Amino acid sequence: MNDCIFCKIVNGEIPSNKVYEDDKILSFKDLNPEAPVHVLIIPKKHISSLNEVDDEAAETIAHIFKIVPKLVKELGIDEGGYRIVSNCGEDGGQSVPHVHFHLLGGRSLNWPPG
Ligand code: 5GP
Ligand code: ZN
Repeated sequence: MNDCIFCKIVNGEIPSNKVYEDDKILSFKDLNPEAPVHVLIIPKKHISSLNEVDDEAAETIAHIFKIVPKLVKELGIDEGGYRIVSNCGEDGGQSVPHVHFHLLGGRSLNWPPG
């Protein structure tokens, strides 16, 4: 947990461009954006992957999705559309072991992903 870069972003050890924050979750711009809008939404409490979701984490994840309508409006992608994706494990392409949701928008996105 202590070496986790997203935990360090939560506690301010690593700077980030925040777009939303409350007591449970944080959203900030991805360092290497793949779209004009690319932010990450994370639970503040460390949880390494979707495989570890328990009742408390599930509540926090539900909270994330309650915030999405407001967030996408603020980011100006509510009408154009967007994608939310969470990569899990090696095959899923997860590189940071702290659960996060990518919110991507601002351009037409390809499907299916590679
Ligand atoms: P994953 O590959 O695990 O699905 O997504 C991790 C994401 O975190 C990547 O898109 C990567 O660009 C982003 N990322 C990695 N380190 C940092 C960082 O220190 N700050 C920010 N803002 N994003 C990061
Ligand atoms: Zn963490």
